[in-house]
Amino acid sequence: MEDTQSCPFCHASESVVLVNTARKVGTAVGGVAGAATGYAGTSTGAVVGGAVGSIVPVVGTGVGIVAGSLAGALAGFLAGAAVGHQIGERIDRNIICRYRCNACGKEFEV
Ligand SMILES: [Zn+2]
Repeated sequence: MEDTQSCPFCHASESVVLVNTARKVGTAVGGVAGAATGYAGTSTGAVVGGAVGSIVPVVGTGVGIVAGSLAGALAGFLAGAAVGHQIGERIDRNIICRYRCNACGKEFEV
């Protein structure tokens, strides 16, 4: 934590943490959106997987396409979650600016 706030109620500064509502939402939304985008954009992953899997015809092609699609969705989920996490944290820190004091349990805006 680079910018520590002190609690306006009990004046403790070590126990004050940023309330990460937008970060949690951003991570979830970003992950789902990323997975959808990744899955939709996995035509290449599916084609490559299918081509590789085609060494074993029919079964291998199907397994390869599924694996390629899943890999794309997973990669998209991770990328989207990372972006959403960062955007959400920025919203929490710069726009919402809500902090919670763990010493007295009160929340306050800066
Ligand atoms: Zn406090």
